[in-house]
Amino acid sequence: MTPTSRGAPEFELIERIRRRAAARDDVVLGIGDDAAIVQVPAGRQLVIAADTINRGVHFPDNTAPADIGWKALAVNLSDLAAMGAEPAWCTLSLSLPTGDAAWVDAFLDGFLDLAAQHHVALIGGDTTRGPLSVSVTVHGFVEPGRALRRSGACVGDDVWVTGTLGDAAGALTQWRGGAVVHPLLRSRLDRPAPRVATGALITAVAHAGVDVSDGLLADLQHVCVASGIGGEIDLEALPASAALIAAFDPQRRSALQATGGDDYELCFTAPATAREAIARIAVETGTPITRIGRITAGHGVRALHADGSEWIAPSAGFVHFA
Ligand code: ADP
Ligand code: MG
Repeated sequence: MTPTSRGAPEFELIERIRRRAAARDDVVLGIGDDAAIVQVPAGRQLVIAADTINRGVHFPDNTAPADIGWKALAVNLSDLAAMGAEPAWCTLSLSLPTGDAAWVDAFLDGFLDLAAQHHVALIGGDTTRGPLSVSVTVHGFVEPGRALRRSGACVGDDVWVTGTLGDAAGALTQWRGGAVVHPLLRSRLDRPAPRVATGALITAVAHAGVDVSDGLLADLQHVCVASGIGGEIDLEALPASAALIAAFDPQRRSALQATGGDDYELCFTAPATAREAIARIAVETGTPITRIGRITAGHGVRALHADGSEWIAPSAGFVHFA
């Protein structure tokens, strides 16, 4: 416990949060004690992920508090989605410059909206004074041995990706350049949709998977290293939104799609025999899934033009503090 020196005292902020946190039957003890108690369902494995977002690093300075709340949880749920896990609980550590109760209320609007959509209960956290930073931990379940890992990709697998790529990076590019930011691109930056339902279903057919947070090539590279194989991406096959196509010429668009960060889509590999099943999952979840390349022998990820020549990336993805 660290007191906030200005604004509402910490206990008052925590009480505001506690009043709005939704319940779940498997939460034995939620916010208010020294720690939470939860009941893990019999026969399930617990999957845990944590991610922090900081002002100026993970979201622009002008991001609305509700969008910061949404995104803080979304990036974490995306990690659970990439494992094929069903979300259940989360904790929230808030570092706030002032004890601004109105800011916390607005932040909770976005955070708890997304939490409700995925039946996630907020069960605890920490509230301190400091530079604006939001740290979330999420917990979810999988059937034993069913989690989707980065390792396991096989030579000959197809490579697939959900949704569209490059939208968030497109919004950031426009914002940094002082241009008018396309509202659809901005909403993809501020309110990514974690692919929880898709992730849960693809575990039945996929060999390996990752969520795309640092850029497609960088994240697929993680899969390739963990699996000890290589990968090829067809640049022209990468899915793009109409907004991205309208806003950027093909060269810049390709760079945003292949290397831009903050997509929070799922990239996974699966054998060719799974193509029909994957098409059905796309229909069932209402989320497009596009085949974008293949797993190869060797190592490293290459992006190819339609004529087979290699595309050279202007940068290898977003690296913090680079
Ligand atoms: P302690 O000093 O024992 O760590 P705190 O005063 O920090 O306790 O927290 C009191 C209760 O409020 C705990 O249950 C804690 O998990 C919860 N809590 C504190 N901050 C938050 C937050 N930002 N979101 C959710 N729960 C919180
Ligand atoms: Mg205590």
